[in-house]
Amino acid sequence: MAHIHSKILILGSGAAGLTAAIYAARAGLVPTIVHGIQPGGQMTITTDVENYPGFADIIQGPWLMEQMQSQAENVGTNMIADIIVKTDLSTPPFRLEGDTGNTYSCDALIISTGAQAKWLGLDSEKKFQGFGVSACATCDGFFFRGKEVAVIGGGNTAVEEALYLTNHATKVTLVHRRGELRAEKILQNRLLNNAKIEVLWNCILTDVIGKTDHTNPEVVAMRVKDLSNGNVLELSVAGIFIAIGHTPNTEVFTGQLEMDDDGYLITKPDSTATDIPGIYAAGDVQDHIFRQAVTAAGTGCMAALEAEKYLAALDTDKMAAAE
Ligand code: NDP
Repeated sequence: MAHIHSKILILGSGAAGLTAAIYAARAGLVPTIVHGIQPGGQMTITTDVENYPGFADIIQGPWLMEQMQSQAENVGTNMIADIIVKTDLSTPPFRLEGDTGNTYSCDALIISTGAQAKWLGLDSEKKFQGFGVSACATCDGFFFRGKEVAVIGGGNTAVEEALYLTNHATKVTLVHRRGELRAEKILQNRLLNNAKIEVLWNCILTDVIGKTDHTNPEVVAMRVKDLSNGNVLELSVAGIFIAIGHTPNTEVFTGQLEMDDDGYLITKPDSTATDIPGIYAAGDVQDHIFRQAVTAAGTGCMAALEAEKYLAALDTDKMAAAE
């Protein structure tokens, strides 16, 4: 068991955390990243990535994250595998405990623990994840141009994703478990007036049907159960987008940092500052709207620059007090 003190401690090694580390390390702050069981974050469960700027050809999500990690380490980031189970953010230095028994303290903390898409929990959904089953239309919709797809859910995300997918797909079937949508009225109107979208009301996805005899598995159909009469339908689709919500990884900060009703950390406008000076939040842990690798990287950069400024002011204060 060890105690590790860092000027900047970064929680999470997705696009936000690694970008924050690259900036903090290049500012000479020798950051430590504590990453959990899925180093690289949500990008490591994605396959083809075509929308991260800088790459003319399709790249793989896990490869991109490996590159970001190497870049962060090459400029001087320490990477530690641990799961933070306890935090005390009441006064600086902030104190944290990992399930390895290691303890940590830091002068500035960047929280980039991300969020997890909620899944239905079907075995077939898991089997085809990244091969036709996705939780992000903006990321993967393009791969379904000229094909038929389905979206599962009835909230704002599901409706926005269905609308977005009509730019690529020939037909979008929205499968919703109730007879009315949770999404805002304006979005509902757009959805219901879009000729490319069909809504299956009171229906649930029960099975993803696909082929696994190719090098890459692919989705060919879905089985849907109509809860109003028990009928089971089988519909041809090439892609299924699960849009039933996300859960931010913020449990360990409950009661210590300001969060919204869904548990997302609240940051100040045009900033990554939380309600505690010296603590910053970047990436999906504070963003339930854009949720893109490139926006996460952008806020990671902002967090490092803001933390650097905060630490510089602390140093100036300490020098002034010593005089
Ligand atoms: P929501 O929690 O709002 O909606 C989730 C949807 O998925 C609901 O329709 C729910 O059904 C359905 N669902 C949940 N679990 C299951 C399940 N096991 N099986 C089938 N269906 C299920 O999540 P969103 O991601 O849509 O939105 C999250 C937050 O982000 C909201 O506050 C939303 O307003 C906001 N947001 C805002 C946007 C904007 O302003 N443009 C864009 C996107 C999100 P049911 O309705 O029956 O509960």
